Order: sequence, then C-alpha cells, then structure tokens
Amino acid sequence: MINKESLLSLVRKNVQQLNPYSSARDEFTDEAEIFLDANENPYNWEYNRYPDPYQNQLKEEIAKWRNVKKESIFIGNGSDEIIDLLIRAFCEPDTDSIISLNPSYGMYKVSAAINNVEVRYFDLDENFKINITSILNYFEKPDKILFLCSPNNPSGNCIAPEDVVLMCKTFHGLVVLDEAYIDFSNTKSLVEMVGLIPNLIVLQTMSKALGAAGIRLGMAFMAPEIVQILNKIKPPYNVNGATQQIAVSILTENEKSNRQISQIISERTKLNEHLKQLNFVVTVYPSEANFILVEVKDADALYKYLLKNGIVVRRRDKEFRCQNCIRITIGTSLENDILIQKLSNFQNIH
Ligand SMILES: *Cc1c(COP(=O)(O)O)cnc(C)c1O
Repeated sequence: MINKESLLSLVRKNVQQLNPYSSARDEFTDEAEIFLDANENPYNWEYNRYPDPYQNQLKEEIAKWRNVKKESIFIGNGSDEIIDLLIRAFCEPDTDSIISLNPSYGMYKVSAAINNVEVRYFDLDENFKINITSILNYFEKPDKILFLCSPNNPSGNCIAPEDVVLMCKTFHGLVVLDEAYIDFSNTKSLVEMVGLIPNLIVLQTMSKALGAAGIRLGMAFMAPEIVQILNKIKPPYNVNGATQQIAVSILTENEKSNRQISQIISERTKLNEHLKQLNFVVTVYPSEANFILVEVKDADALYKYLLKNGIVVRRRDKEFRCQNCIRITIGTSLENDILIQKLSNFQNIH
C-alpha cells in the first residue's frame, strides 16, 4: 500500500514546484475593522466582500455531518471541478493515464481529454460488476488515477467496500471513489476510511440527494496532504459566497432532504415493480441510486414516444453494454404515476 510520503511523489513536477497566487484573503487572516486590501466596493451588503477561499465554516459543518476531520475536506464548484483539479494536479499531459470503468460517468473522460491525458477503460461485465482479479492485473505504470463510481452511473449498482479497499491496497496511484449517489444506497460509504487509506479519495456532491444541483457544490475527502496540493492549483475563490451560505443552511436543517431521500427510495421500488411488468422491457437493472437503467426492445422508439408526451429520459443506448437502454431519474410520486401511465399506453400501441 502507498504511504503518505510516496503520495506527494505522484504529483506533477510543475505543480510540486508551483508558487500559487496569493489572494488578499490569503495574506491577511487576522481580525480587522477596516478592509482596504482587496479592492472591493466598501458599501456593505451581503456579497460586497470576497468569500472565504477555504470555506472554513462550511467545512466545519461537513466535518460534523460526515464525521471526518476538517483538514481532510476539499470543496469545489461541483464535483466536476474536483475531477478536473485531480487530473490536472497528478497527470502529466501526453504521458500519464487514468483508468475509468466502462460504462461509467462521462466527466472522467472529458476532463482527461481536456488535459490531454489518456483514458484506459476497464470493461464491466454484463451485470456491470468488476472482475476484481482482472482489474488488479490491469494496472500499468503510467496510470495515476483509478476512477470508481459507486453507485455507478448509469448502471445504479455499488462496488463492495472490501473490493474498493483491495483496489486501493494494490493500485500504485490514487483511487477516486465517486459517491454522488451514496445517500440513496444501502452500501456503506467509505468516507470514514480516508484517514486510514492514504491513496483513497471520496467524492460527494450536493447535486443529488441534498437537492441543490443549482448551487454547484462538490466535496472531496482525502489525505490532508492532497488537500494542500489542490489548494495550490484551485482558482482562489472557486466556491462563491452565496453557495457557501446556502450549503451551510442545507446541512444545519437536513430533515427535509432526509424525508425526500426516503420518498425517492420508495418511489424507486414502485417504479421498479411497474417496469418489470411491461412486455417491451427486457431488463430492469437493480439500482441503489435515484435512477433506474432499463433495457427495452426499442430504446429509440420509446425515447421519442415519451418525449412527444412531454417526458424526457436519458438515452444511454450508445454506451458500452447499454444497447437499447434508457436511464430514468426517479421523479415525484405524481411524475412517476404519469410516466407509468404513458409506459402502459406505449405497451398498448406497440
Ligand atoms: C451527477 C454526478 C456528479 C455530480 O457532479 P456535480 O458537479 O457535483 O454536480 C458526480 N459524479 C457522478 C457520477 C454523477 O452522476
């Protein structure tokens, strides 16, 4: 297993040597009455000042909520920003590579492509599971980051925590475990393991279960040494003041999202049952997320029919192992009822 010292040797040389931009709020952190250092407009309203570049108050709330150390938290403008920063910090363009499961979330390969970093795909089996023995033999020297996604988008299934731990112990680079949908799942989060496994990074987001995709708030849990590296390369004020404020209030009153999560999970069961009864449905993949991947006889026809009826679902039929698959997000109870009714109509006319 990688130790903390060898972690830092994975960082790109130019990033190791980088002198980061030092913002006004970086250089002055004491108390003062009069702020004439940052060229802000002095007339006071909620947002005339630059926000805290290290989001201290928000990190304190997240630390309590997830039972982790504040120093292990990094916050980004959505988890998409964190994916990009990790690739930028660790992967030498045109030289290093990342590994993505196939099929999985599309941003890993887009961020890699933007950074001119090769993606090596590890194919999941026909039930979207990882063959552990073969992945342990798949790793190659230029691989710097292994992206895992659990529950996986678009398939909805989880990776067993002990398999994640095994991959961390065997892989010579960073393992990024994307838990965007973990709050809809019965599988245990690995967030509390980040202190024990130096090369494990866990990604979470406010965009899904917490109901705040619009504020753009992603969080990552990792060794404090890696947080320091990302702090060096992030835009100084990457998380804006309004977002920090709203995120704190979401975490301090989280009964609402807890209720919504249970509702979404029971709606998932309902939709799952209905889908299985339809004769044009080939496979309903079991999901631990807030969406269901469904293989049908003719994805194109179904997609167009639903769209004509005002319902948009996500086509996934061009993805590896997803022939004739669509991905349906769980909506409100009423929305799901309308969907179910339209699906029955589709069955009647086809
Ligand atoms: C939706 C999603 C995200 C969320 O990204 P944000 O930038 O935080 O909105 C991250 N990972 C996966 C797998 C997702 O499906």
